[in-house]
Amino acid sequence: MLELKGLSKRFGETVAVDNVSLKIPAGAMVGVIGRSGAGKSTLLRLINRLCDPTAGEIMWHGTPVGGLNGKALREWRARCGMVFQQFNLSPRLDVMNNVLTGSLCRNQGIAPLLKMFPAEERARAILELHALDMADAALQRCCTLSGGQQQRVAIARTLMQMPDIILADEPIASLDPANAETVMETLARINRERGITVLVNLHALDIARRYCPRIIGMAQGRVVFDGSPDALHAAAVEQIYGRHVFEASSPAVTQSPMRLGAVA
Ligand code: ADP
Repeated sequence: MLELKGLSKRFGETVAVDNVSLKIPAGAMVGVIGRSGAGKSTLLRLINRLCDPTAGEIMWHGTPVGGLNGKALREWRARCGMVFQQFNLSPRLDVMNNVLTGSLCRNQGIAPLLKMFPAEERARAILELHALDMADAALQRCCTLSGGQQQRVAIARTLMQMPDIILADEPIASLDPANAETVMETLARINRERGITVLVNLHALDIARRYCPRIIGMAQGRVVFDGSPDALHAAAVEQIYGRHVFEASSPAVTQSPMRLGAVA
């Protein structure tokens, strides 16, 4: 169980995350939706301690992670794999070596930096690439791949960390619709087959509805909706995205759960 208790993050005058309390059972697949600036990214970054909260606590299976540092913090970060919108791969490195860097959090020392990864890590990297249908591209430079392929490589790299949680920050925002579907199917399959908890920030409401059994809606740093896609009716959508969404929709649509694409 991942538990956030009264979590807040301030940047000067800006309250990016405002008193968020959530319980996320291990193995859940949760979509976090909201307008730009709602605090979605900061929430994920707080969870893996890329930034520290101004107030509140994060617990994993009952153990606080807020005070971790040194080796314990590195281990926590390894357990929370991040997936980013811009993939964060080394474009000139080949796919295999990009994926292998995911194991660096567990293999310290100079050998990995010299690309001397142990045979078992190399075998595991190939297996992860195979699972994501990317093994054929193992020796290609990442800069030669499509965005969707690069995101699958980035997910394979994250899996090398053997994470308990994947925190995916707008993983499909740079992708065309077909690649976006493939990446979401990949995350959903990893969640289903491996029981890895997935928290995914999404801009597109229709995608969140289809892939995430639980949706958390954020506005101005606060959680304003937490429930199933079926419960996400027009009033909740308005609270999350604001009135402008309705101006772009027909009155008939606003009476029922909304089927919107990307909204700003
Ligand atoms: P979202 O992911 O929903 O777009 P963010 O979490 O990125 O929202 O941002 C929430 C708010 O916090 C925004 O007002 C943003 O400008 C602000 N913010 C985020 N990161 C920083 C930072 N490092 N320094 C200052 N303000 C920040």
